[in-house]
Amino acid sequence: MKKLTLPKLPYKYNALEPIISKRIMELHHDIHHQGYVNAANQALESLTKARKGKKQIDYKSVLKSLSFNLNGHLMHSLFWQNMRSPNSKNEPMRKIRKALIKNFGSIVNFKNEFSKTTSTVEGSGWGALVKNKDNDLLVIQIEKHNLLHLTGFTPILVNDVWEHAYYLDYANKRDEYVDQWWSVINWDKVEKRLLK
Ligand code: MN
Repeated sequence: MKKLTLPKLPYKYNALEPIISKRIMELHHDIHHQGYVNAANQALESLTKARKGKKQIDYKSVLKSLSFNLNGHLMHSLFWQNMRSPNSKNEPMRKIRKALIKNFGSIVNFKNEFSKTTSTVEGSGWGALVKNKDNDLLVIQIEKHNLLHLTGFTPILVNDVWEHAYYLDYANKRDEYVDQWWSVINWDKVEKRLLK
């Protein structure tokens, strides 16, 4: 597997203000996401060395680290792409709108289910809108970066509710962050991923 690298943000660090501050974005992207990239590369390197007989490894702990850190890298890479500058009239349109209504009954229902799912994640984790090959949609919780995952379902929209994602701006008010977050979603990108 190719060595992983930290993707650049598709906008400036302050682009999501006042919903998400520049300081959070700097720490979240440059420190946290970089940390997952480095640790995932280390796990991959340990596996390569073991295959060449150069190193004895503890498979259980290396694979645990690979799952946590590689998923951390993939989830954050998606998360940055999910967002753009805030716009209070930001709503899903066209095909993604139709798909949400078909699967959840209405946009209000979908938002309600996604917000409740996301704000009630136990400890550190994510809310995710996922699809399967038939384009069935579900909203799921992901604990840490990798637990409660459903095989065959790919995330098309994710929200990070680890404390590092909101605590500097919202303190303990996770609900408020989850609520404000609707105005920074890049629905064009979500639709593209739905149709992929
Ligand atoms: Mn994060």
